Amino acid sequence: METCVAVVPGSFDPVTNGHVDIIERACKLFRVVHVAVAVNAAKEPTFTRDERVEMLRLACAHLPEVTIGTFDGLLADYAVAIRAGTIIRGLRAVSDFEYELQMAHTNRCLAPDIETVFVPTRTDYSFLSSSIVKEIARLGGSVEGLVPDGVRQRLREKFEQR
Ligand code: ADP
Repeated sequence: METCVAVVPGSFDPVTNGHVDIIERACKLFRVVHVAVAVNAAKEPTFTRDERVEMLRLACAHLPEVTIGTFDGLLADYAVAIRAGTIIRGLRAVSDFEYELQMAHTNRCLAPDIETVFVPTRTDYSFLSSSIVKEIARLGGSVEGLVPDGVRQRLREKFEQR
């Protein structure tokens, strides 16, 4: 297992500035940061897999350490396959903690050599989630400062189509 490779998994539906902050901070800790977009059949995403990957590409263009991929099985299997030694998850509030701890234990059970590292969010992004920015965009509000530039346009297009 390579400890210099970390995987940052998520739905990224769409990527927000909170996600980018976590990815940037992961880049300070690891040589390769692989952002893995979950293609989860149980969740009905707003953006397609390709749209989510494309928005992440734009958002992470300034980070040479970052690679981007997608996975649709177990994260533990994917992390082993790409030889990641660490799973990175962001923590916004205590309410995130219970679920995240359960997932960390589950992944440890499935792949004992892979560590989970929690990165606390920046205070000013602690309220931010993909659902919140979609709700603002759906109701015609401004998401400036909450999502990367390319995502603002995508959100506008997505909700104008509806
Ligand atoms: P998931 O559906 O797996 O929770 P998300 O796309 O919602 O996927 O989140 C991916 C990761 O980014 C998670 O670790 C989540 O805690 C983290 N994250 C989401 N929003 C923020 C934020 N505002 N600040 C820091 N981390 C965040």
